Amino acid sequence: MDITNGFVGTVGNTPLIRLNSFSEETGCNILGKAEFLNPGGSVKDRAALYIIKDAEERGLLKPGGTVVEGTAGNTGIGLAHICNAKGYKCLIIIPETQSQEKMDMLRTLGAEVRPVPAVPYRDPNNYVKLSGRVAEDMENAIWANQFDNLANRRAHYETTGPEIWSQTDGKIDAWVAATGTGGTYAGVSMFLKEKNPNIRCVLADPMGSALYNYFKTGELKSEGSSITEGIGTSRITANLEGAPVDDAIQVDDREALRVIYQLLNKEGLFMGGSVGINVGAAVALAKQLGPGHTIVTVLCDGGARYQSRLFNPEWLASKGLAVS
Ligand code: PMP
Repeated sequence: MDITNGFVGTVGNTPLIRLNSFSEETGCNILGKAEFLNPGGSVKDRAALYIIKDAEERGLLKPGGTVVEGTAGNTGIGLAHICNAKGYKCLIIIPETQSQEKMDMLRTLGAEVRPVPAVPYRDPNNYVKLSGRVAEDMENAIWANQFDNLANRRAHYETTGPEIWSQTDGKIDAWVAATGTGGTYAGVSMFLKEKNPNIRCVLADPMGSALYNYFKTGELKSEGSSITEGIGTSRITANLEGAPVDDAIQVDDREALRVIYQLLNKEGLFMGGSVGINVGAAVALAKQLGPGHTIVTVLCDGGARYQSRLFNPEWLASKGLAVS
């Protein structure tokens, strides 16, 4: 028998998919870790599970307790599922700019959702800082604190990284991914570099994020903006701190959209916007490295979460981003 144990037992062990059209185009093997197949639908199920298990093990989260988090959506969805499975309550503080689909989903899952104005991290009312204060003021509650809680990157160091290593039989030349909290990128990079320091670890970054400039010039500076959600940041989080970064690649929204529509139309894969940045960066890296290399990236979540935006011609046109 091959049976997984409930939601919690079903997180991880996702397939590694060869993206045929992109591989043929570049002459490289472009592989996507199918994180959209996690039971909560995204890469963040892994971090959510590790954060909750860590709080339980340290005696911080007790039966009937509440998990509070500031999240752009996917972490909240993962946390809300796990809270249901384990009997906890879930309170999510979310920037009001995030997609309606994600907010509706959180409410359906039974989380209390508090949309707040999207203000920069330096503002005391930033959603992340607000969530920390809310948790502090509540009885029997923990703050998941995904940006700076290292249980997040440990999830990827202990699960995603080893899965990629064994799925490729260690035959991997490069790993490339964008970062939100940095947990996925850092955990996988740290694991792969320990296995083989020659694996090239490359950070992908949307416009409007400061990381590309930071790793190119040392300055945390951003230009432009992006319609992608869940990635890009203005600071070095504890999860990203110390992660190996051999290079950074910036991908703009036009390229990310071209990629997600190619994934949809040529690969049959209905993916979210951050996947466009990741696969776009993998293609750029393949062109830099030349044919014959194996490049792994992440398929973070599915497109249904962004139906009203990335797959809605009117919305795209309103952003000056018509898809041909
Ligand atoms: N893509 C999407 C759609 C996400 O929601 C996130 C998490 N915010 C990421 C990518 C980045 O993952 P991480 O937080 O591990 O850097």
